[in-house]
Amino acid sequence: MKGYDMFFTDRDVKDGMECNVCGQMCDVTRRVNGPTSWGESVGHGSHWHDEFRCPNRDEPWHKQALELLMEMEKTNSPSLKKIMDKDLKDIIKKKEVIGGWHKSFCI
Ligand SMILES: [Zn+2]
Repeated sequence: MKGYDMFFTDRDVKDGMECNVCGQMCDVTRRVNGPTSWGESVGHGSHWHDEFRCPNRDEPWHKQALELLMEMEKTNSPSLKKIMDKDLKDIIKKKEVIGGWHKSFCI
């Protein structure tokens, strides 16, 4: 799975990682023993790894930004992408939800 605001790496391979949503340096937890994928968690597998999480990932504006980013990757329209990119930058600059957005229940 591609990481947006949470990443798993092998132990000690990265000093730091930036969030793909807001560009903030992620908080890191080193030497975690656990699953890093859905498949591994279903199979009760685990291994040692480092975990990087964006400190903003629980903020509503960050969730809106992430949803927008995922929609941007889905669209084939360059014009729409431009508009969405503007909204995305707006959200990240203000650190606020825009347009009365509410988190959808599907993700
Ligand atoms: Zn972030």
